[in-house]
Amino acid sequence: MRVLLVEDDELIANGVRQALARKAYQVDWINNGSEALSAAKNNPFDLIILDLGLPVQDGMEVLRMLRQGNNQTHTIILSARDATQDRIAGLNMGADDYLVKPFELEELFARIHALERRMGGAASNVLNWQGVTLNLQTLEVIYQGEVVNLQRREFSLLKKLIENPHRVFTREQLEESLYGWTSEVGSNTIDVYVHNIRKKIAVGLICTVRGVGYRMGQDGI
Ligand code: CA
Repeated sequence: MRVLLVEDDELIANGVRQALARKAYQVDWINNGSEALSAAKNNPFDLIILDLGLPVQDGMEVLRMLRQGNNQTHTIILSARDATQDRIAGLNMGADDYLVKPFELEELFARIHALERRMGGAASNVLNWQGVTLNLQTLEVIYQGEVVNLQRREFSLLKKLIENPHRVFTREQLEESLYGWTSEVGSNTIDVYVHNIRKKIAVGLICTVRGVGYRMGQDGI
């Protein structure tokens, strides 16, 4: 899952970034409102964590512009503005959730997981696909009763595919979802991850769509 973190307090931003990275999320960080707006418009984020008091453009304005432009990216507001009126305004502007600072990272994660469940239509933190189970909270992967040791990015890749099991993803889409725009990615990185996942779980788990990319295998593994 690719997250846009919009936060001008460097200390908070670093804490959230590191915590999210440990949980296998890809995070891109921006510290002002106007850059956040163009980043959100031009990149396929799965989630925006949005501060309100921001330089250049206020977070509420960013959210308003996004929703006005029909951008429906799920958004959690993370703000020191704790008045009921602020929370109501944020939710009415189209935020999915509103967390008041100071906050516990655990609560932020609980809210992200709750949002992911709603996005995926699931009632738990567990994704299942043909005998493979991914626990989004513990990052544990089980196949046929055995724990499978996936690397963090292998986990993220498998999660992305299982969340949309009938969709074909191009390598570029998968790279972006895993790395964001911040790092250089080797040309065959995704192929290597897919190879590793197949080797660790089952060859038929992920299917190659020639000339396009990958999707989950449809015929059983
Ligand atoms: Ca701020």
